[in-house]
Amino acid sequence: MTQVKQLAAVSAFLQRDHGHFINGLSQPGGGALRPVIDPATGNEVARVHDGCAEDVSAAMAAAQQAFLGSWAEMPTLARGNLMLKLADAMEQHREELAQIETLCSGKTIALSRGLEVDQAVAFLRYFAGWAGKIYGETTEISLPSSNGEKYRGFTQREPLGVVVGIIPWNFSIMIAIWKMAAALVCGCTVVLKPSEFTPLTMLRVAQLAADVGFPPGTINVLNGNGGLLGPLLIEHPFCAKVTFTGSVPTGRAVGNAASALAKPATLELGGKNAALFLADMSVSEMVDGIMEAGYVNQGQICASAERFYLPAEKMDEVLSALIQRLSQLKVASPFEEDCQVGPLANKAHLEKILKMVARAKEDGDEILYGGYSPDRPGYYFVPTVVKVHSEDSTLMREETFGPVGSFLAYDDEEKVLRQINNSPFGLAASVWTHNFNKAIRYSERIQAGIVWINMHTFLDPALPFGGIKSSGNGREFGSAFINDYTRLKSVMMRY
Ligand code: NAD
Repeated sequence: MTQVKQLAAVSAFLQRDHGHFINGLSQPGGGALRPVIDPATGNEVARVHDGCAEDVSAAMAAAQQAFLGSWAEMPTLARGNLMLKLADAMEQHREELAQIETLCSGKTIALSRGLEVDQAVAFLRYFAGWAGKIYGETTEISLPSSNGEKYRGFTQREPLGVVVGIIPWNFSIMIAIWKMAAALVCGCTVVLKPSEFTPLTMLRVAQLAADVGFPPGTINVLNGNGGLLGPLLIEHPFCAKVTFTGSVPTGRAVGNAASALAKPATLELGGKNAALFLADMSVSEMVDGIMEAGYVNQGQICASAERFYLPAEKMDEVLSALIQRLSQLKVASPFEEDCQVGPLANKAHLEKILKMVARAKEDGDEILYGGYSPDRPGYYFVPTVVKVHSEDSTLMREETFGPVGSFLAYDDEEKVLRQINNSPFGLAASVWTHNFNKAIRYSERIQAGIVWINMHTFLDPALPFGGIKSSGNGREFGSAFINDYTRLKSVMMRY
């Protein structure tokens, strides 16, 4: 099948001196060079300078200046129009952005185009539509006046200021756009910190933003070591808010650093998401559902399911049909148009998953399929099916963030609901059944920020998304994001 030819624009971009994008300009900086590794081959494709304290100061100063000046002075609708222009530019550069993403993350080229770039564009347009629609309220003052004078009060939503957005490697464009677009439409400016593994895509997007007319300083991108730059960014006096997506331990560190300074933090963290299949579903419906819920993008989606609860009487039949389906997937270079299984995103992630599978074996779980790296270059891992021996198994409690489905049989729906909720996480879940009465009732009882019915992992910009318990706090999308990126000011008058 056809191997995608690298665009000349991508080859030229890779060869540039990369670092940061500050105050409307590409600014490589002078920090140590960090290689960007193609996970499909293990080869270096580019190098990016790490940021340092001076780069943090420059990015934060540029963002603060734009926040108080050019961005604040721009009429709200003009801001929304610029966001729409950026969406158009991203669409025009769709293939280029998708190829850079696939090179850094190993995502199949089809997913990079359709899920990463196209979804980012759709979310950007959705948020642009909020321009001019962020309102306060007027209110009568409730206490009586003493001398016949009257009072009136109103509230208005004010942008918080400079927002620091810290991004993981699994969706380097889409997740950055969620944060950036929400902040910008509320009147904030941003400093984005991409993952060390995927530092290139947002540099390109920031350049496109400058090209369509975003004022210098509104969108800044700072690359480098998260452990060093994260605290410097959060503690910087110009940082008004941090919005973070990533792992639970890092999220807790970010939350602690922000709360120590009474700064608001939105935390979108990991999960151990459950998918519950009721016995009325057919075997093929269950297999379709499991593939959708657990194995897209090699399971490297925060909302993917990793815990699967199947009715005991159908478990073996479903698992053998699932294994049959998984064994037919095409393992290939992610640049092949029909690739279905690309590499995991980086070496450290592959090593983590291999260790978790080894631990599962020690726990007494049964690896029915996969669980190993195939013999080829890069960080490939065969999609895996594990029959776990109990709900206390490590694989039922800790996130793999990979294509490792853990399956537990049940024969009592009440008990299985308790098992699903007996988790430190609460990001997402799904219920699969033709019985809508049960589906709705169970969705109400499952402790998660989002529960899908007969679907999984589908995020829509109109529907709020975020976790409970250890999976984080704050909500992205819908109208819910407005609370997170603005503060309420009250004004009261006498007349
Ligand atoms: P990670 O926590 O290792 O890194 C995320 C980001 O934090 C990176 O940019 C990193 O450089 C930065 N960072 C590292 N140390 C920091 C510190 N001390 N202070 C501030 N920033 C720091 O996560 P990852 O491995 O890139 O991503 C995978 C994780 O992200 C998984 O757990 C997954 O579930 C989660 N995730 C959650 C969502 C969601 O919406 N809930 C979405 C995608 C991914």
